[in-house]
Amino acid sequence: MQNTSDILVVGAGFAGLVAARELSRKGLSVRILEARDRTAGRTWLEPRMGRSLELGGTWVHWSQPHVWAELTRYGIGVVTAPDVEKAYWHADGRLHEGSPEELMMLLDGPNRDFLAPSRQLVPLPYEPLTNPAIKEADQLTVAEKIDDLELEPVSDDLMRSFWALNFNGPIDDAAYTQALRWAAAAFHEWPIMFETCATYKVQGGTAALAQAILDDADVDLCLGAAVAEVRQDAEGVVAVVRDGSEYAAKAMVVTLPLHALNSVRFDPELSPGKREAAQRGQLGLGAKLWIKVKGRHERFVAMGPQDWPLNFVQAEYLDAESATLVAFGPDAGAVDVDDAAAAQMILRRWIPDLEVLEVAGHNWVEDEFAHETWAMHRVGYLSESLAELQRSEGRIFLAGSDYASGWGGFIDGAIESGFTAARAMAEQFGIRP
Ligand SMILES: Cc1cc2nc3c(=O)[nH]c(=O)nc-3n(C[C@H](O)[C@H](O)[C@H](O)COP(=O)(O)OP(=O)(O)OC[C@H]3O[C@@H](n4cnc5c(N)ncnc54)[C@H](O)[C@@H]3O)c2cc1C
Repeated sequence: MQNTSDILVVGAGFAGLVAARELSRKGLSVRILEARDRTAGRTWLEPRMGRSLELGGTWVHWSQPHVWAELTRYGIGVVTAPDVEKAYWHADGRLHEGSPEELMMLLDGPNRDFLAPSRQLVPLPYEPLTNPAIKEADQLTVAEKIDDLELEPVSDDLMRSFWALNFNGPIDDAAYTQALRWAAAAFHEWPIMFETCATYKVQGGTAALAQAILDDADVDLCLGAAVAEVRQDAEGVVAVVRDGSEYAAKAMVVTLPLHALNSVRFDPELSPGKREAAQRGQLGLGAKLWIKVKGRHERFVAMGPQDWPLNFVQAEYLDAESATLVAFGPDAGAVDVDDAAAAQMILRRWIPDLEVLEVAGHNWVEDEFAHETWAMHRVGYLSESLAELQRSEGRIFLAGSDYASGWGGFIDGAIESGFTAARAMAEQFGIRP
């Protein structure tokens, strides 16, 4: 066959780019097949509303070792958000306002109690199955664990909203162990976990980091190459792209998000455990929306009940005559990313005179190459599916943030997983480390 390389990598998100770079550095010929017309996957820096906006993954932190090492390697810094000055929260049926410290205090005690078992149950964040007791905890939902805390109504509403925000989805089937894993990765300290999620952005945007990794890899990148079918036999692997072209290699790293795995045909089929996990899916199916509002504003944060279309808003960029807010909601179907009037109606529940000028976003759940935002798992995923998803199938290795051990669901997890897949592949094929 003409299109032959040592390794095929499906997907040019962070997992695919890192796996490709690492394998190319081992002297292997590597081809990446990427469905989109761009790299970086679920991170996407785009010019919108007069500035460069991150429509997908954005925030990074030095508590995340893999992404931090990449930033250091390429000499890329971070941009710090200005301090928050004001907080609004809608809880127990009414609007409250105060300082950000007051809001944090309402969440502090409940989150400390909620996450207290993280050190015992997840002593090693990168080996989340170490303690056998994790199996029983993995049957508990976030909602049930919050019920157990028997909180006052305001704190109860805020805790449910905070975790719906973190899951980017509803918490009724959300695994309590997923929350413990986040806390464990953040040194068992929820304020660090919170800071990690929404404080420091990549200088020059996520696109700058993705480009630096790509520039450092000797790979053949094929954009617009949506893989429809993957075959493997004793000789090697073949990827069939939608236009019918075929690419062969000795082995393959597949970096598709869990929900996108369902749209590629594997021959032979992936293991029953992998297929079941992909069919069951995960819960991060929410929305991220950028909203430009008129006038000068203070930097505020706002929280609403867990079932509001947008339950978290933060003023991100403050200009003389406008502010650009970033908002999240737990259900992509409840937020039209083009509807400024709808966004205004929601925002006015907190600040009645806010005037929305423009909105920008991307519906990742309808995006056929993602079908999800960031991976937040259901009960049972950790104990029943993770190890199986990480297990290679012959010449095929799954990699990606959805299958990471540590900061799964984050850019960091994607990078971790790209490294792991590259190392495992090298070992299996006797390539020197
Ligand atoms: C709205 C949103 C906000 C987020 N916020 C943060 C954040 O602040 N911080 C953080 O760390 N993380 C955040 N994340 C998560 C982070 O962006 C992802 O976890 C990470 O980028 C995933 O990388 P990946 O390589 O595992 O997967 P992806 O980036 O999804 O890469 C997979 C690639 O495979 C391609 N592909 C899919 N199907 C095919 C096919 N059939 N053939 C060929 N190619 C295919 C896709 O186009 C994609 O490029 C966020 C994500 C979203 C969507």
